[in-house]
Amino acid sequence: MPGELRAAGALRALPLGAPAQMTASPLQDAAAATAAAIPAAVDVAVIGAGVIGLMIAWRLAQRGLGVVVFDRAGAGTGASLAATGMLAAAAEHEPGAHDLLALALESQRQWPAFRAALEAQAGHAIDYREGGTLVVALGRDEVERLRFRFDLHRRCGLATRWLSGAEVRSIEPALRPSVAGGLFCAGDHQVDPRLTIAALRAAVQAAGGHLIEHCAVTGVDLVAGSIAGVVTTAGRCRAKTVVLAAGAWTPDVLPAGLTVPVRPLKGQSLAVRATADTGTLSHIVWTEQIHMAPKGDGRLIVGATVEERGFDDAITAGGLYALLEGARRAFPAIEEMAVEAVWTGLRPSSIDDAPILGATGVAGLAIATGHHRNGYLLAPATALAIEALIADDEMPVIARPFGLDRFGASSRSPRLRGEGRGEGQPQAQCGRGPSPGLSPQAGKDEGLSVRNGLTA
Ligand SMILES: Cc1cc2nc3c(=O)[nH]c(=O)nc-3n(C[C@H](O)[C@H](O)[C@H](O)COP(=O)(O)OP(=O)(O)OC[C@H]3O[C@@H](n4cnc5c(N)ncnc54)[C@H](O)[C@@H]3O)c2cc1C
Repeated sequence: MPGELRAAGALRALPLGAPAQMTASPLQDAAAATAAAIPAAVDVAVIGAGVIGLMIAWRLAQRGLGVVVFDRAGAGTGASLAATGMLAAAAEHEPGAHDLLALALESQRQWPAFRAALEAQAGHAIDYREGGTLVVALGRDEVERLRFRFDLHRRCGLATRWLSGAEVRSIEPALRPSVAGGLFCAGDHQVDPRLTIAALRAAVQAAGGHLIEHCAVTGVDLVAGSIAGVVTTAGRCRAKTVVLAAGAWTPDVLPAGLTVPVRPLKGQSLAVRATADTGTLSHIVWTEQIHMAPKGDGRLIVGATVEERGFDDAITAGGLYALLEGARRAFPAIEEMAVEAVWTGLRPSSIDDAPILGATGVAGLAIATGHHRNGYLLAPATALAIEALIADDEMPVIARPFGLDRFGASSRSPRLRGEGRGEGQPQAQCGRGPSPGLSPQAGKDEGLSVRNGLTA
């Protein structure tokens, strides 16, 4: 797990004065094995084996396309294994983000089918839990802010229910009496990221795809301005289509002239272990500061800070203090729980907090990144959108507002192969002009936010 406090047993120092070896070293053997595993030519090469790259690769492999997915480290070791795994379309909804809510609800709707197919192909469960999410308020100010959020949910047609403090505690008796109200988001479920990444890893390969780990892509191969493949640290691979899904590192592998406004957004989280003595929660619980998510294996995940720190992934005392204090404020039993792990992850966040999906303007080069706090939630809709783009050269309507072209690069084509703009393609102008129906960001700053710098 990225940044995990426990030693990961990564590198061991070689003993001084070790005799020179004439035979190949284990590192050379590993490099040769990686090079040999790279297919010479595929239909699609995916850069990055996080939840997004793996989900896309799996769908395409299931469809019978020749697929390879590269990761410079192990699958999931970017943001994906750091996530809590909440599928929180309602709890995450922000004012004005209408298009993003539509995409999130559609993706949430797709999750049960994806889950069933994934578990069947991988041969193990992903701890998909259907308990729903409680967003609770402690004290009068928080109740007022939560009422604003409730009104927002109602205006957007969400089926969120308002609960009194007593009703919240009847569902979650271990919460403090100071919990004065809450929202119940009945459709906001969760998966376990560790099990989901393991399942996707297995499913990609079971469907006939190649997964090449510990092999960085250093750039894309272009012939006459069109994609011809990728260049890696272990050799080249020819590909008709390349999908950029390298998370916060996506800007490192772009061809000259292409810019993608994605940055790392640091999140620290921790896991505590519940026992029969401590008890635990039965739903995901959000406060204004933190979320707590009970997993099937007895862990309770407490997350997550939201910090602008570039690629600094240090675990800090302040971050852990904020998480534990935020959890204790609502759920006193946490004091007795053993801390099992702490970690950080770097969310790939775009400048409007919405994903970047679709064509790039470079023929054969697609992109799927910027999933911010919602990579798991949005993974099915993302995979379906990229599959449609690659198979039919057409993005589904629901995904069209999330093109790279919304950032103002007007020369970027929304098509993967052709030059023209698709019929009926919305002209998304993010953050410019009053077109809230078309922009995932429009109105994002209006109104009140329950977020205090610490959240999912
Ligand atoms: C603390 C925390 C909690 C979160 N909780 C949730 C949650 O509850 N629900 C939710 O939906 N989302 C959550 N998220 C967000 C979610 O984790 C991300 O949106 C998602 O993981 C992004 O997936 P990705 O595949 O785009 O990126 P990543 O998981 O970062 O994967 C990118 C991969 O690309 C690889 N890579 C980079 N450069 C190269 C290269 N040159 N060549 C080859 N490979 C390369 C990296 O090694 C990495 O594995 C959380 C995030 C954090 C940090």
